[in-house]
Amino acid sequence: MGYKAMQLACYCGQAPDRILEVGFTSDRNMVVHFWCSTCSRVLFKSQSLEECEGAFPPADVEADTRSKADDARFLQSIGIAVAD
Ligand SMILES: [Zn+2]
Repeated sequence: MGYKAMQLACYCGQAPDRILEVGFTSDRNMVVHFWCSTCSRVLFKSQSLEECEGAFPPADVEADTRSKADDARFLQSIGIAVAD
């Protein structure tokens, strides 16, 4: 499974120290509130469903089964059961 972090930055260019809250608006946007310690202020990033769609990383080219088995073994080792 591919993963891409959402890029959050303050106007000053600093990456946030803390994500304060993630929420959803009635007009179907996702909103992330975060804190910039350099500016000592709360900022937010709002994304529509369409923008979220555009942010997904490309689908994996068929992952090989060995790595899936490794993933399952790892998850089990930290106590997460994998339903198949
Ligand atoms: Zn800042």
